[in-house]
Amino acid sequence: MDDPKISQSLFGPRVRLAPSPTGWFHVGNARTGLFNYLFARKNGGKFILRIEDTDKERSEKKYEKNILDGLKWLGIEWDEGPETQGSFGPYHQSERTEIYKKYLEQLLKEGKAYYCFCTPEELEAQKADMIARGLPPKYSEKCRDLPESVIKKNLAEKKPAVIRIKMPNKVIKFTDLIRGEVEFDLNLIGDTVIAKSLIEPLYNFAVVIDDYLMKITHVIRGEDHISNTPKQITIQELLGLPMPNYAHLPMILGPDRSKLSSRHGAVSLIDYQKKGYLPEALVNFLAFLGWHPIGDREIYSMEELIELFDLGRVQKGGAVFNIKRLDWFNAQHLKSLNTDQLFDKIGEYIKNFYPDSKIIEDNSPEYIKKIIELEAPRLTKLSEFIDFSDFFFKENLVYSKELLKWKSMADKEIIVSLNDCLNILKDISEKDFNRINIQIKFYNFITESDNYQKDKGKLLWPMRVALSGKKASPSPFEIAEILGKKKTILRIEQALNQIKT
Ligand code: GLU
Repeated sequence: MDDPKISQSLFGPRVRLAPSPTGWFHVGNARTGLFNYLFARKNGGKFILRIEDTDKERSEKKYEKNILDGLKWLGIEWDEGPETQGSFGPYHQSERTEIYKKYLEQLLKEGKAYYCFCTPEELEAQKADMIARGLPPKYSEKCRDLPESVIKKNLAEKKPAVIRIKMPNKVIKFTDLIRGEVEFDLNLIGDTVIAKSLIEPLYNFAVVIDDYLMKITHVIRGEDHISNTPKQITIQELLGLPMPNYAHLPMILGPDRSKLSSRHGAVSLIDYQKKGYLPEALVNFLAFLGWHPIGDREIYSMEELIELFDLGRVQKGGAVFNIKRLDWFNAQHLKSLNTDQLFDKIGEYIKNFYPDSKIIEDNSPEYIKKIIELEAPRLTKLSEFIDFSDFFFKENLVYSKELLKWKSMADKEIIVSLNDCLNILKDISEKDFNRINIQIKFYNFITESDNYQKDKGKLLWPMRVALSGKKASPSPFEIAEILGKKKTILRIEQALNQIKT
């Protein structure tokens, strides 16, 4: 969108993704990261990754690695942040304690923040009292004006304390780039805790300092943070800092329209990677979670999304996460790949998620590519390649008699049918052993046979199952061509042996 502040800025906007490494990187974070990235790239700005690891107990390195891996997998490159660095670091909040301390001390010194020594029991009692009096439950302000001597004494005695800001008695207004004018009555919020101590700042405080020092121009984040915004604006005002632009993205909802959670299936990005989704499909799908360009077209590359992205077209209402739609996006992106590209993607997928598989090592690329060509039209996910085509890579198949049976065929009939197949196949030379020739020979045979003419399934079904071992697969002629004459015959003989025992 045409924001005057952006066009006036020489260096373009600076936006950030600020995830807390307290859980696996999920679709919500990924969508926020993507929107920030698209906005930065579209407007010639910078995308910053800041790790908000102030919660020491819950933050873990493995989660941080998962965030970085997830972003890299999606192709969302950060200009500044862990691994990349930049001029506004450090980019881990845990390394910025001294910076926050300075600002906390300033607020305390100026009397804009204060130590609160109320115990959890006292806080509970205060809340209950307010509710009983029909007032909104908020902090009673009991410690707001404690004498300096009491504060010193309590701190010296190491009495448990927190630091609260003095919330002004007013209404905060800001213009959200997606939601328009937003108002919050600070009176309802009360004196917010901003730190557990001088060296333990809390989210609302650290985020304000970082956004300011990292020169963030636009805070683009999930709507679940909108109730934090008035607190953050108040902290900015108390410190005399400028206010960035805000844009709160619509919530991602499950199909039942409640907030998307693990109840709705996988929410962690790595799970989608494991399931065989392409990063470009996920990017395309995530971009459409709350946004869409003008027109009906839906399949876009990252470069095209950058070109078209416009914050002004982000919707206000929740965006429903529909896995069927993701499957559709994935199938479309798979279809746009040629055989060589699919071969590379499948190879990479197998290497990552089936490290013990020898499919790639044990077979020639030509053989694998023939199978890819055959299966590609049916593929929705990379993982299906393994499910659909494992039989091409096995030496011996185990058959179920039931599956070899077409309708109510007796064992005897299956034996006759498979022997007929063998006779037809043996008659075709190695040189002519391709799907067209095989099909012609089979259909000629069917036309000449009363039995099969009435129901050709009696000939083709047992053969197809003998070659694939599966209920669903490509046609027996296509499979036979890829397996080659020798293996095709061997499989039918093996099926015959198994049915006879
Ligand atoms: N650390 C916060 C989160 O993970 C970031 C919120 C923000 O973007 O301000 O939700």
